[in-house]
Amino acid sequence: MDRTTLAALLADHRAFFTANRTKDLSFRREQLKQLRHMIVRNEAALFEALKQDLGKPAFESYGGETGFVVREIDGALKNLDRWAKPRRVTTPLAYFPGKSRIYQEPYGVAMIIGPWNFPVQLMLTPLVGAMAAGNCALLKPSITALHTSHLLAQLIKDHFDPAYISCVEGGAETTQLLLAERFDYLFFTGGPAVGRIVMTAAARHLTPVTLELGGKNPCIVDKDIDLDVTARRIVWGKFFNCGQSCVAPDYLLVRRDIKKPLLGRIAAAVQQFYGTDPSQSPDYGRIIDHGHFDRIMRLLGSGTVILGGTGDRPTRYIAPTILDNITTGDAIMQEEIFGPLLPVLPYDEIDQAIAVVNKMPKPLALYLFSRGRKLQQRILRDTSAGGGCINDVVIQESSDSLPFGGVGESGIGAYHGKLSFDAFSHQRSIIRRGFLFDVRLRYPPYKDHLKWVRKFW
Ligand code: NAD
Repeated sequence: MDRTTLAALLADHRAFFTANRTKDLSFRREQLKQLRHMIVRNEAALFEALKQDLGKPAFESYGGETGFVVREIDGALKNLDRWAKPRRVTTPLAYFPGKSRIYQEPYGVAMIIGPWNFPVQLMLTPLVGAMAAGNCALLKPSITALHTSHLLAQLIKDHFDPAYISCVEGGAETTQLLLAERFDYLFFTGGPAVGRIVMTAAARHLTPVTLELGGKNPCIVDKDIDLDVTARRIVWGKFFNCGQSCVAPDYLLVRRDIKKPLLGRIAAAVQQFYGTDPSQSPDYGRIIDHGHFDRIMRLLGSGTVILGGTGDRPTRYIAPTILDNITTGDAIMQEEIFGPLLPVLPYDEIDQAIAVVNKMPKPLALYLFSRGRKLQQRILRDTSAGGGCINDVVIQESSDSLPFGGVGESGIGAYHGKLSFDAFSHQRSIIRRGFLFDVRLRYPPYKDHLKWVRKFW
């Protein structure tokens, strides 16, 4: 897309927004239903595109992509009236009689930039928030998930007025071109490096941002656990989408005395889920492209392979892999893995595990397995993360009553459920008064007003 075409598209978006159609709640509801219809009617085609891009099994395409977005839409449809209603709050005595309300005002034209790993969910879930809150939106999916990007662009074109919702395809150059323009809100999901580029571009126009970023998510496994359940949950969360999830456990910190039995159960769970040859399993995905395949295979140089460790470049298959004897100095501990390799670091005392976590940037998720209440409290107190679970992994991401977002290096802002509506709304504060009672104390000449103001204000 060249600059002139882009400027024309943005002018159309602005004109659409200024015409106030999106301010009407029945318009928003109708359009959310249209989005729902678009997804449900084209679910098979979306599954096929996701299969081609990521080898995604239908179960994961439903749970992590289409079904996920439909649930968000249904929540928005059910609650829109309540979310959008001006909220009454108390008014200070000094302004009596008066009424204070917070109005939910759409920002205007929002841009949503997405990554390739959940290319449907991470484009359309923020879109639900943008639409529910009454914005126009321009979507920029990741071209790395090529088939899904093409399909989404076509579906958006077929189902929406392009002045209301548009989809612009392209790589980094296209995104940079878009970022040079002024939007009223930027919602970005991706890595911290590009997050910085987005925030720098936003600063030029003072555009507010949500940054949903990634990082290395620790999974601490202490004693007093159910070994089988722990192993199953870790294996599911790590190898869902072939390890390419922003909330996947990145590395394991395991109390040394349970390391051996735990790794045995993890190996057993891998075999139970994906068979003796996971390359033949219909339930195991593929790496997105050869660039990422090569990057992940290079990380296999760290530690000792105790499970998996093989890959097939033409089919972009990498086996579910466990790496033992890892130290914090190894290459695999210097970057987000974003693939099916699980490095394991043992500890003797919990302080050592906490020290490892706190030496790294704040993660998007932190997981702890232990029944110990004191330990649970200690980990919550002594570490910081976007979110996480105690005795489970990943599932915090799919609860629409929990804010989903990072902290520090893993992001700014949060969304899902009502918080998606809030993310795309400006909270406009209004005090409404009549003309009765015009207390003169605030007006000059102030003379002895101060002593009275101190009493009432
Ligand atoms: P990325 O940051 O490379 O790309 C994200 C988007 O930015 C893409 O649309 C891409 O086209 C664009 N982009 C890439 N380079 C750019 C540049 N130089 N200038 C402008 N735009 C550019 O991320 P990715 O590889 O697509 O996704 C993986 C990352 O996303 C991981 O770090 C992962 O943890 C993170 N992630 C976070 C979440 C979350 O919800 N917090 C969800 C999924 C993925």
